[in-house]
Amino acid sequence: MKLREALELDKEQLESLRDELLAKAKESKINAYIGFESSGNGVPILIKDNIQVKDWSVTSGSKILQGYIAPYNATVIEKLKDSGFAPMGRANMDEFAMGSTTESSYYGPTLNPHDNSRVPGGSSGGSAAAVAEGIALAALGSDTGGSIRQPAAYCGVVGFKPTYGKVSRYGLSAYASSLDQIGPITQDVTDSALLYDAIAGHDSKDSTSAEVEHTSIYENLDSNKKYTIAVIDNYIQEANDDIKEAYNKAIEALKVRGHTIIHKQMSNTKYDIATYYIIATAEAASNLGRYDGVRYGYRAKDVKNTKELFFKTRSEGFGDEVKRRILLGNFVLSSGYYDAYYLKAQKVRHLIRDEFNKIFDEADLILSPIAPSIAPKLGSTHDPLEMYKSDMFTIAINLVGLPAISLPIMKNKDGLPIGLQLIAKAFNEQPIFNAALSLEREVNYNN
Ligand code: GLN
Repeated sequence: MKLREALELDKEQLESLRDELLAKAKESKINAYIGFESSGNGVPILIKDNIQVKDWSVTSGSKILQGYIAPYNATVIEKLKDSGFAPMGRANMDEFAMGSTTESSYYGPTLNPHDNSRVPGGSSGGSAAAVAEGIALAALGSDTGGSIRQPAAYCGVVGFKPTYGKVSRYGLSAYASSLDQIGPITQDVTDSALLYDAIAGHDSKDSTSAEVEHTSIYENLDSNKKYTIAVIDNYIQEANDDIKEAYNKAIEALKVRGHTIIHKQMSNTKYDIATYYIIATAEAASNLGRYDGVRYGYRAKDVKNTKELFFKTRSEGFGDEVKRRILLGNFVLSSGYYDAYYLKAQKVRHLIRDEFNKIFDEADLILSPIAPSIAPKLGSTHDPLEMYKSDMFTIAINLVGLPAISLPIMKNKDGLPIGLQLIAKAFNEQPIFNAALSLEREVNYNN
């Protein structure tokens, strides 16, 4: 059932829908849910484990937050409730949203519903896998460098990363504050617009929230609008054959629908990964400083003094990937290295932005891959650098604060989904949804 249909149900029907989903979720083997809480009546929405729901446990997939109960609702939760939705269930995720596979979760990995030997992507892997498995109608995820779009692509569902500042981050556990955005993961583009409308809008509780009025995307959906769409020719060279095939298929489909395709190059893409992993880890090192065993969740036992309390709590409470990033973040921020790494990364961030803006002088949208391959096998990503490299197509969007939607285009010969993304100028989100809807209709992924 789609969200738009569920919104028509009465109270009793909603209750039985909720029971049915929960029963299926409890039986499911993919470990997408890590909790089955539910709060209020409304169309049930699965919530990633880094978004506060009052009185629910919220742990960001980490041991260090075990036992912590959210004292208030995130703004997105209040907004969901105002629009006829209700939070139901906790979605698994990579610890503190650091990862691309959902394997770094304290609760163990989530499995890809299309092939249980593969990852669902990450970090919002629980959210995307649950929607694909049919145990959630829709979910909220968060995207710092691809964490909504990439799992959506690996699982064959739709994920939208809003313009930075369009959705309040109040009540979202911070990973990298200048990059994080909450967004919807849904079965199709229309539901994505609907759920996005529910959570978007200015919030005085978030100082980075944009003071712009949100105009309903859902009510203005128009798949007949024609756009100029840029394809970045050097981008696609980095992807494997499955992705190239989907890319060509999407280009043909967009042409059939009357859109104009133009060809462009981007030269700064080679700096994306380095820039992102300097800025994201620097911000993470500072954001995660608050988890010290005093204020939140887990506290180490048998300690002699405060220093040892901090040391032991953090050593025992954080997983390897989180520790690696805290170390890296503190390194790039330390005196002597700050200018060489952090400051330089901020400068490169501007160059990347300028390059995107130049393309948007001529194009309404950009079509791009999400990941260089289909979902990898569980346990196959041993080298952290290799994992970081797989983010090459998604992270620039966050560095620049742009909106982008990930939608499924086709399955490869083994039945594994391939998704691509449409990217637009900041705050120019209607064209993304209109073009995505036309592409969705033309490629007809679900049939
Ligand atoms: N894979 C990226 C990272 O590990 C992005 C994660 C995210 O968007 N939260 O940082």
